[in-house]
Amino acid sequence: MDSEEFRDWSRRAADWGVDYRASLRDKPVRSKVQPGETGSRIALSAPEAPEPMEDIFADFERDIVPGMTHWQHPRFFAYFPANAAPVSVVAEYLVSAMAAQCMLWQTSPAATELETKVIDWLRQALGLPEDFSGVIQDSASSATLSAVLVMRERALQWTGNREGLSGQPRLRIYCSDQVHTSIDRAIWVAGIGEENLVRIPTGGRWRSMVPAALEEAIEADRTAGFMPAGVIASVGGTSVGGTDDIAAVIDIARRNGLYVHVDAAWAGSAMICPEYRHFWFGVEYADSVVFNPHKWLGAQFDCSIHFIRDPESLVRTLAIRPEYLKTHGKDGIINYSEWTVPLGRRFRALKLWFLLRAHGLEALRQMIRNHVRWSENLASRLAEVPGFEIVTEPMLSLFSFRHQPCDETRADEHNLALVNAINDDGRIYLTQTRVDGRLAIRFQTGQFEVTEADVDTAFDVIAEIAARITADATR
Ligand SMILES: *Cc1c(COP(=O)(O)O)cnc(C)c1O
Repeated sequence: MDSEEFRDWSRRAADWGVDYRASLRDKPVRSKVQPGETGSRIALSAPEAPEPMEDIFADFERDIVPGMTHWQHPRFFAYFPANAAPVSVVAEYLVSAMAAQCMLWQTSPAATELETKVIDWLRQALGLPEDFSGVIQDSASSATLSAVLVMRERALQWTGNREGLSGQPRLRIYCSDQVHTSIDRAIWVAGIGEENLVRIPTGGRWRSMVPAALEEAIEADRTAGFMPAGVIASVGGTSVGGTDDIAAVIDIARRNGLYVHVDAAWAGSAMICPEYRHFWFGVEYADSVVFNPHKWLGAQFDCSIHFIRDPESLVRTLAIRPEYLKTHGKDGIINYSEWTVPLGRRFRALKLWFLLRAHGLEALRQMIRNHVRWSENLASRLAEVPGFEIVTEPMLSLFSFRHQPCDETRADEHNLALVNAINDDGRIYLTQTRVDGRLAIRFQTGQFEVTEADVDTAFDVIAEIAARITADATR
């Protein structure tokens, strides 16, 4: 591709993106393709000779786009959002064009120094104390893995990386029964083993781990000869928003010398609003906190912020420093690849800088407040419709509900049929979960361009389809 073609196709791609975003409300949110359908349209092997860009682009539109689920659709109410504000897309065009590998300060000084700054902007925006620094990771899973590795090395007096884990005491890590599966995977990959991830039962309105149970588990493990290493606390769990009492957890962890990592991957974005900070009261004493601006805040995927109080422990765990990576540089140089498991790093700070400047914190706060309010309103409206039950109250903008079928023994089947029928309809997209063993339908409002009218549409669709499948079932 020569420069002129590069220019033309870049413009076409940008135009396409703008038209795509503008047309989303008219498209079904979830892709309607069947398994194997897209794959069967793709050539079996790469071509030996070049193909014209016109053909490639036409095939993209014909074969690929219909197989996409539209995460930027305003009526995407499933999972958690993966918001990409238009301004962050523009920043990503630039990053993509420069295509720098930002592993060391010297491999792109601006990427490193901007990263330090935007992390500090976010630290202030979230109300975290000055002694937190941080690094941008690809995903919360990676940040949690890093934190678990620090827990491991710290507990083993920094011998794990060198000697391996055999012959070492059995490490134990504690979390609630509401945490994300990325915690399990971090435990597996760190060599600690699922059996040593101790799940503390939860209780109360926010499904928080019971502090006394945490304390007892730590004590029982010590007595049994295990080595407690850390606690992973949750703020806004993925299933129904499970949120621990961070202050109570940290108090117990501190008394036991344990490292604390807080997973606020989704809910962290809401902490730009001071009125929601009660959900993580005490977080200023955590050792490590992760939140994903790529979820709710609007920074194009991927962009996960890993705040840490003591970067030294992280660098001690992860830095390798072969000779060719040493920058022999000036003081104060940060090589962020020493703060993460992967060596290579994309320039992720630019989209945050663009996003925060173009919108300003106040507009982002207003967006999040709207989402929370609209979700709360929807939950109240649904609760008033006969047959609907709110299973878990809104935690920020996430709640879950269930529809009562005529035959209560078929409740799970009925609600699964309901969520499937809603998603096949295409106007909105929802996902299900299990709450105390029973199926519940999740609803979260968080898409960057969602309006109150979209949430009203969600109410209409849910009520209409529930009535329809109930009528079908009794016919
Ligand atoms: C989404 C989510 C994760 C995983 O985030 P990735 O960035 O996809 O790794 C972890 N924890 C919680 C609470 C989440 O909502």
